[in-house]
Amino acid sequence: MTQPVLYDSLTRSLQPLTASDGETFRFYCCGPTVYGAAHIGNFRTFVVQDLLRRVVEASGLQTKHVRNITDVDDKTIRQSQEEGKSLQEFTSYWGERFHADCEALNLLPPHVEPSAVDHIAIQIRLIKRLIEKENAYVADDGSVYFRVTSFADYGKLSRLQDREITTASAGAVQSDDEYDRESAADFALWKAHKPEDGPNAWPSPWGKGRPGWHLECSAMSMEYLGESFDLHSGGVDLLFPHHENEIAQSEAATGKPFSRLWFHSTHLLVEGHKMSKSLGNLFTLEDVKARGFTPMALRYVLIAGQYRQPLNFTWDSLNAARSALRRLQQLHHDLAQAAGATAAQATADWGPFQPVYDALANNLNTPDALGKLFTAVHQIERDLHAGQVSGDAARDFLVAFNRVLDLFGFRFDAESGPAAAPIEVQELAQARWQAKQDRDFARADALRAQLTELGWSVRDAKDGYELKPSA
Ligand code: AMP
Ligand code: ZN
Repeated sequence: MTQPVLYDSLTRSLQPLTASDGETFRFYCCGPTVYGAAHIGNFRTFVVQDLLRRVVEASGLQTKHVRNITDVDDKTIRQSQEEGKSLQEFTSYWGERFHADCEALNLLPPHVEPSAVDHIAIQIRLIKRLIEKENAYVADDGSVYFRVTSFADYGKLSRLQDREITTASAGAVQSDDEYDRESAADFALWKAHKPEDGPNAWPSPWGKGRPGWHLECSAMSMEYLGESFDLHSGGVDLLFPHHENEIAQSEAATGKPFSRLWFHSTHLLVEGHKMSKSLGNLFTLEDVKARGFTPMALRYVLIAGQYRQPLNFTWDSLNAARSALRRLQQLHHDLAQAAGATAAQATADWGPFQPVYDALANNLNTPDALGKLFTAVHQIERDLHAGQVSGDAARDFLVAFNRVLDLFGFRFDAESGPAAAPIEVQELAQARWQAKQDRDFARADALRAQLTELGWSVRDAKDGYELKPSA
C-alpha cells in the first residue's frame, strides 16, 4: 500500500500521513461559524478534509476526526440579536442546515463535533492555566489576553517577523475596547461582556464574558484528541492569526507540541473573483441545486482542482462534472449487469484503479487521480463493449470500482439519474449543448433529432440540460 504524503504548512514539506500512536490518525478541522448557510468555498475546504480522511483510512489507519461548531463569536451574536432570536435557537437552525448540506455532499460525519457553547468550562480551565504560567493577563475590564512575547515560538507557522505580527494582529482584531492590551499583538482569550452581547455571557473568575474564538479551538481539540495530535486543518485564511494563536495558547499551556502536521486548503474563487456578498457571487448548495445541479456534481467540481491551487468555480464546470458522473454511473450499471448474480468477494485490491489511489496518496493530487480514473474507465468500457469481460472479471472490476468511488466520496443517488443515458447518448447531448453554446443552432437541432430517434428528450435550463427517456 502506497504511504500517503501531504504538504505540511508548518515544515513546508511533504510529510508521511502516519499515526503517532501507530493506530489512529487523530485530526481536527476548524468547523463552520453557524450564522448563515455555509457557501461553496467553505465546502471546498470541508470536502478536501473529507477526502483526506478517506485516503488515510484507505491507507489502513483508523481515524479520529473532530470538527467543531463555532456557535459563539461576534458574528453569531450580532446576527442572532438582529433577528431577535436566542443564540441557541439561531445557531442550531444553521447547524442543522450545515449538517443537511454535509449529508448531501456525502461528507463523513466527524467522530466528535463539539460546540463552543457546550465547552465553556474547559475553555475557562485552559485560560486559568495560561494565567498561572504568566502567558496571559487580566485587563481592567475583565478581559483576558495572551501575552505574545511570552511564547518564544510565536510566528513559527506563519513565519512572520515581529513587526509584521504586530501590524497584522492590530489590523485583524483591534477594537475600541482592546486599548488595555500590553501589546498590539496580544489577543483575547476571554472577552468581557459588552452591552451589545445581550444575554450571551457566561460567569468566569474574571467576570461575565465569553471565550475568544482562537481559544475555543485549542480547548476542544485537546479535549478530544489529547494535548498532542496528528493534524490540524482549515482554509488558508485561518493560518494567521487563528492557527498561529492556537499553537501559542496550546503549547504555552502544555509545554508539548500541539499538532504535528498543518493542512491548509487554498480558497475557492468564483468566475475568477473572491466570493463576497457584495459582488453577488457568494453561492450556497441551495443555489447550486436551484440551477438543476446535484450536490455530487458540486463535490466533483470542488475536488477537481488540487487543494493547494486556487480553484475557479464556474457554472460550466458543473456541466462537465455532471457528464463525468453520468459516465461513471453508466459504467457502474454496465458492470453490475455483466457481473450478474456472481457473488462479490471483499478485497483490499485496487485492481485497475491502483494509479488512482497512488495519485491521491501523493498530496491529494486530485486532477491526476481523476485523469487516471478515466483512463481506467475508458479501458474497461472498451473491453465491455467488445464483449471481452467475463462475469467474474466484471464482478472484480465492480468491487474495485466501488472502492474507488468511495475513495472519492462519489455516491449515485436517484437525483443524479439512475436512468443514466448510454454513453453515446450522453456524448450527443453534450455535443448539442456545445453547439448551442457556439450558437450553431442548425447543428444543435440535428443533434436533438438524433437524440429523439434514440428515445431521449433533452430539456435546457440556463446553465445546463437534462436528459430524459422520451415519454
Ligand atoms: P467559517 O465558517 O468562516 O469559520 O469557515 C469555515 C471554513 O471554510 C474555514 O476552514 C475557512 O478557512 C474556509 N473558507 C472560508 N472561505 C473559503 C473559500 N472561499 N474557499 C475555501 N475555503 C474557505
Ligand atoms: Zn479553529
